[in-house]
Amino acid sequence: MQNKKITVLKNARLITPVRIIKNGVLVIKDGKIADVGAQGEIIFPRNARVIDVEGRYVSPGFIDIHLHGGGGADTMDATEEAIEKISVAHAKGGSTSIVPTTITAPIEDIIRAIENIEIVRKKNLPGANVLGVHVEGPYFSPEQRGAQNPKFLKEPEPEEYLGLLDRYDCIIRVSAAPEIRGGLELGQELRKRGILASIAHTNATYQDILRAIEAGYTHVTHMYSGMSGMKRINAYRVSGVIESTLLLDELTTEIIADGHHLPPSLIKLILKAKGLDKVSIITDAMSAAGLGPGKYFLGGLDVVVEDDVAGEFEVPEEEGNYVAKLLTRDAFAGSAATMDKCVKNMVKLVGLSIQDAVKMATINPAKLIGVEDKKGSLVKGKDADIVIFDENINIIMTIVGGKIVYKKGK
Ligand SMILES: [Zn+2]
Ligand SMILES: [Zn+2]
Repeated sequence: MQNKKITVLKNARLITPVRIIKNGVLVIKDGKIADVGAQGEIIFPRNARVIDVEGRYVSPGFIDIHLHGGGGADTMDATEEAIEKISVAHAKGGSTSIVPTTITAPIEDIIRAIENIEIVRKKNLPGANVLGVHVEGPYFSPEQRGAQNPKFLKEPEPEEYLGLLDRYDCIIRVSAAPEIRGGLELGQELRKRGILASIAHTNATYQDILRAIEAGYTHVTHMYSGMSGMKRINAYRVSGVIESTLLLDELTTEIIADGHHLPPSLIKLILKAKGLDKVSIITDAMSAAGLGPGKYFLGGLDVVVEDDVAGEFEVPEEEGNYVAKLLTRDAFAGSAATMDKCVKNMVKLVGLSIQDAVKMATINPAKLIGVEDKKGSLVKGKDADIVIFDENINIIMTIVGGKIVYKKGK
């Protein structure tokens, strides 16, 4: 009789943070990684279900710590059904863990979305796991709003956010502008509670960023989007958030690797300055992720998703390479990508090795939100969150907690 609780993946190219093990074997038992290594080193358990992965890559599942939606649904829909759709759409793209992200809106709407995550994250979802919620806005600088609705931007008031932080354990990340009134106090509160404090949609100067780091901010949201650069004040040059992030080792950052937000040259510059350990890949996906072109909404604003054109901009020339923009087409509005596309872009456009690109989609984000003891690498004892893909990073299978949630062609 087969023991259904034990699964063995054999003939795998196993991706670890430091090497690729050819002809590898990975044993899954009770939802955890029970053993991992080269064939010959691993004892095959008896009566296990054996899956021959035919030399494909077996990678830790992707962890997306910044996404608004997917599969036609948005975090702000605030329903269980919406989160299920997002969970399924992103599992298809290789994500095994996601952090659904709210957007600037009336505070009651944000609370409803957080409340929904608080309930849903304890349930078994049909695709990727929900680790918690990322609250992006409304505490932002109007000058750097991007696709955040300016009508609902405000300054952080303790009476408002303390209640939220007390009530909802699921808040694991907050993006805010540290230079606006109350921004530093918010950073201190987040640090005290072990919540990732992230600098975002901000017009800060270098001096503001130094104060932000002292207060407790450690991360910078979507590098190069919604942030100040060097400016001239009278005769003097002042560094903005861009230069501060590149310069200061205290800060980690993330890049939207959909192939549109950042050209390879800027991604290379970020990696040159920050190194491979301090940069994570995110999708910042909106509801169109996993679907096709069309008209969508994001935070009450009209969004168009369409094919992107190559040309003077360094964008990938590929089928299904959709871009999400505000209707005016003068700003991006999240992305239509899933993590597989982002990892592929890092390899094909930026020229990273698969191992390095995977690291930025797995162990790096796991560390940022403090789940690296359970997730982010193929190590004995960690959760069996696994993605199998081919040479071109086409997802073949996604496994969450030992359970197959997506299989190509099924
Ligand atoms: Zn944003
Ligand atoms: Zn976002």
